[in-house]
Amino acid sequence: MIITSQKDALREQIKTWRQEGQSIAFVPTMGNLHLGHLALVEKGRALADKVVTSIFVNPTQFDNAADLDAYPHTLQDDCQALQKQYCDLVFTPDVKAMYSDTTHTTRVSVPGISSLLEGASREGHFDGVSTIVTKLFNLVTPDMAIFGEKDFQQLMVVRQMVRELDFDIEIIGHPTQRDADGLALSSRNGYLTKEERAIASTLYATLTSIVEELRNGSQGFKDLAESASQTLNNSGFKTDYIEIRRQHDLLPATENDEEIVILAAAWLGKARLIDNIAVNLNIVN
Ligand code: AMP
Repeated sequence: MIITSQKDALREQIKTWRQEGQSIAFVPTMGNLHLGHLALVEKGRALADKVVTSIFVNPTQFDNAADLDAYPHTLQDDCQALQKQYCDLVFTPDVKAMYSDTTHTTRVSVPGISSLLEGASREGHFDGVSTIVTKLFNLVTPDMAIFGEKDFQQLMVVRQMVRELDFDIEIIGHPTQRDADGLALSSRNGYLTKEERAIASTLYATLTSIVEELRNGSQGFKDLAESASQTLNNSGFKTDYIEIRRQHDLLPATENDEEIVILAAAWLGKARLIDNIAVNLNIVN
């Protein structure tokens, strides 16, 4: 497995693979890898000849300096895990390489969807995501890129950006990987104390119970979300939002909508956890 922090070395390797006719899958990450990330690499492995993973804690997508400073850096372990997963190249640029100087002001923005939900709570977050994903796409020039459905809104932002800016890259979503009790795997789970970890699965359980209520014909979406928020707060979370939205544009769902996604973000101690479940109410699972 090749490990490089250099843009030129990355480009050279990509050029060689292209000359050999190899297809390339790309998995962008911020490192501190867990089985959720590795599932994306495995997916890439199945779909393309070569898999490139990037590890870059992108400062422009953090709205809070303390959160950025605390973000775990575990490069050595990450590279070992990627090697075991048969990743072909790990790109590990530093901040200077990606944002060459303080005058780097160009931003890619996907208005509308970027201001809802996560975007409303974390100002500028999705502009940071769209910008870094664009830069990484320009460097890696993959045939396909794989993103987790755990970050449902991020996946939508990236899909819209790729469509509207004519990137010739297939965007593939991959299901959320969970611990046995349902908690979505996340680098931020490491911030939880033992006591908090024991109640963290309430987030997924609460989303699941909303799905059940919807399947049973419940239509008071606002009341359902409100009572779910109470459940979370009573369990020790501080709910940021829990919302029942339409899958195609993330606007509030109405009784006529069948393709629905329930999205939540909630603080548990130092960790801000997010999760979602997408359902088609027309289809019995
Ligand atoms: P991050 O390192 O948090 O920026 O995540 C990198 C990629 O991994 C993103 O596409 C995430 O959606 C995806 N990801 C993170 N956690 C999970 C998970 N539990 N299951 C599947 N994909 C995930």
